[in-house]
Amino acid sequence: MSDYVKDQDLGGESLSGQLSRRRFLARSGITLAGTALIGCGGQESEQSPSAVALPATSKQNIVEVADGVYAAFADPSGDISANSGFVIGQDAVWVFDAQRVDYSTELLAQIQKLTTAPVKYLIHSHHHREIVEGTPVFTEALIVAHSGMRKNLIEEPRPGVRLPDVIYEEQLTFHDGNRELHLIHLGRYHTDGDSVLFLPQEKVLFSGDLLPGKGGPGGMRQAYLQEFVQTIDKALALDFETLVPGRGDSLATKDDLRRFQSYLTQVLTDVQTFIDGGASLEQTLAGVEVPDYIDPARRGTESFANLWRRTIERVYAELTGPSRP
Ligand SMILES: [Zn+2]
Repeated sequence: MSDYVKDQDLGGESLSGQLSRRRFLARSGITLAGTALIGCGGQESEQSPSAVALPATSKQNIVEVADGVYAAFADPSGDISANSGFVIGQDAVWVFDAQRVDYSTELLAQIQKLTTAPVKYLIHSHHHREIVEGTPVFTEALIVAHSGMRKNLIEEPRPGVRLPDVIYEEQLTFHDGNRELHLIHLGRYHTDGDSVLFLPQEKVLFSGDLLPGKGGPGGMRQAYLQEFVQTIDKALALDFETLVPGRGDSLATKDDLRRFQSYLTQVLTDVQTFIDGGASLEQTLAGVEVPDYIDPARRGTESFANLWRRTIERVYAELTGPSRP
């Protein structure tokens, strides 16, 4: 968390300036991390005595995690609930993941309450529907993504969604005054075209589905499970303190990422044990127990059952099939 958020260092901004900005943010329905955080389901967290809720019609909970750096947690009760983030620079705004059209429309309206700077850059962590569908809302933005994301979007086109204008392979760095934004491809994990956005000065990582929330299994339909575990090690080597996860309703830390990594390792180990014993896919599906990591509230849901089946199918195929190029 930045010093700004901790209120230990005013960072050149006067106290009265900060307070008036906080009031403005409160009027805007925007919440400052460290002072307030309300779960998207409307439940106030224990650490948020002064929480400020979004308007009742809102689809997302926006939290400032560092000066000019925001997380937008999508309402998890919606049918699509991927999170976004945005960074307000000197004369441009960067948005990380568009979400669905109606969420993107609201996100843009919230951004425009905070700044007159245009959204110049729209970064996509990967090509899935809940990430890219709102792309047309950001009419002025240059779309930036990993080369694999562009390839995947060509193979699975989404109506009205533009392909990325700019692609990169390993890392792309944006400069905005003293701020740097590092767009990094850490390897294959959720898909073969994933990106994270790392802000080294602010020690913030927008992870996309590298961390699909706390206690969630994540969508693994196109994932690389063994590489996922290795990629998390690369992410943990980055110097960040605040993680904005791709799902879920709260900020996360490196420990949360480590817990998800342990979960993945456990699933890989358990499925390998069944394979070693000669089990079929169906026998493996029936036999592997859901690790304690998974949020108990999700276990009985149809959505979890589908995600879990896909996870086991993918792991089983990975561990029994040829390695994928
Ligand atoms: Zn996805």
